[in-house]
Amino acid sequence: MSDSKVFKNFINGEWVQSKSGQTYENRNPADKNEVVGVFQKSNAADVKMAVDAASEAYKKWRLYPAPKRGEILYKIAQRLLADKESLSQQMTREMGKVINETRGDTQEAIDMTFYMAGEGRRLFGMTTPSEMLNKFDMTIRQPLGVCSFITPWNFPMAIPSWKMMPALICGNTVVIKPATETPLSVANLIQVCHEEGIPPGVVNMVTGSGSALGDPLINNPAVRVVSFTGSTEVGRKISQACATDFKHCSLEMGGKNVQIVMDDADLDLAVHGALWGAFGTTGQRCTATSRIVCHKDIVGKFTSMMIERARSLKVGNGLDASIEMGPCINQGQLDTVLSYIEIGKKDGAKLVTGGERLTGGDYDKGFFVQPTIFGEVTQSMRIWREEIFGPVLGIAVCNDLAEAIKMANDTSYGLSASIYTRDINKAYTAMRDVYTGIFYVNAPTIGAETHLPFGGTKETGNGHREASTAALDVFSEWKSVYVDFSGSLQRAQIDNQ
Ligand code: NAP
Ligand code: MG
Repeated sequence: MSDSKVFKNFINGEWVQSKSGQTYENRNPADKNEVVGVFQKSNAADVKMAVDAASEAYKKWRLYPAPKRGEILYKIAQRLLADKESLSQQMTREMGKVINETRGDTQEAIDMTFYMAGEGRRLFGMTTPSEMLNKFDMTIRQPLGVCSFITPWNFPMAIPSWKMMPALICGNTVVIKPATETPLSVANLIQVCHEEGIPPGVVNMVTGSGSALGDPLINNPAVRVVSFTGSTEVGRKISQACATDFKHCSLEMGGKNVQIVMDDADLDLAVHGALWGAFGTTGQRCTATSRIVCHKDIVGKFTSMMIERARSLKVGNGLDASIEMGPCINQGQLDTVLSYIEIGKKDGAKLVTGGERLTGGDYDKGFFVQPTIFGEVTQSMRIWREEIFGPVLGIAVCNDLAEAIKMANDTSYGLSASIYTRDINKAYTAMRDVYTGIFYVNAPTIGAETHLPFGGTKETGNGHREASTAALDVFSEWKSVYVDFSGSLQRAQIDNQ
């Protein structure tokens, strides 16, 4: 075992070891010799302790005034801002994306925390007239209790904050299980919450494997909300488990996002957008661009511009500010990417650039692959249909806008889509008819802002949205309140007829 720092679980305001007595190493995907930290391999007993602590803390936290909860969130946001550079560097070391992007990830957590802090003085319900004399009607949001969060590794701090901050401002308490690959960024977030005044038991963290901890995180009757971001396959299981006792269940899952490029598009802009959409975060974003639908008259030019730009992207260790694309998260993800490249070739797509693992020198220390583009992709191919979660882009051809929209919708997912065109009629038609939760005009498929709803249709989600005030609907329930000050029994629908 290395002499790296050992991190513990955070339960009831204290850092504690797992009852299992076991730990695991978190390594840097750009340099697998570097151990970023040693983390607890927790078991069901640890989860139970965390849920018990959260249940107990809920009794007080739900009654603590929301504006006061907001004041703590403001302090957390300010502290994250002050520590942004250090948090981002640690994040690059733990999951590999380039430093500019981890700064963006930390910034997203800062934005979400400030935004939800402000909600502490809003959490608006409505007042509305009663149909009776001398009666007052209103709605209020009430918290639910303990929330379990299961989060992925690609946005190590942003996604946890998207769940934690709206849950906390509504008055809930939290148990979070970060992805095995990225516990450090969540531990850092939890430490800030603790130091800036979140009371003991209100936030708890248990690290370890999802397959071992999923059941105890979901099946405990004290847990009333489960919020998950990850693969559709795991999300389906979680949804089924939550149905048994009607827990609130919010799922954000896979994507197969498309960028449409029409013949009147600003091609430079479209190429810029596609590169960022496809190869940002090494393609490991739920909103990553993995399909291009390009008009037949410009597909040749667009493809050659893409090839030239993709070839010049600098791949390497994301801590070096000149690097434009980092490694895949681990050996398994690298293998998946390489196997999809083979599948693409076998299915008859034309590999136009990339396609190889990067080797030699420092590349041998990590999980690096070339930015890869396929041309002549058709709708029956697996690289068109299946989420790859890596830097692999497929270009398909369309004859007109109607066909482009049909092709865009030809997927089981529905997270994000975009169109590049100078024709406002085409832009609005696509905006209306492409069935996704997020749509961009003349911008890539990535780039969400925290004050707009985030989530997808079809197999990407189950109807909920994260971020914005939409997130409050996941973490609160409406109570409709009727106050009768008439002093007599007034029967609705009967006495006022
Ligand atoms: P994943 O395998 O589904 O893992 C996500 C989380 O679920 C991790 O914390 C994982 O723990 C846990 N988990 C694994 N098996 C579980 C089980 N049986 N029960 C309960 N929890 C379990 O997904 P991933 O490979 O980390 O992330 C990539 C996927 O996430 C992609 O499909 C991507 O599209 C999706 N994603 C979606 C969004 C969105 O907002 N729509 C955002 C980001 C990512 P371990 O780490 O211990 O396995
Ligand atoms: Mg790691």
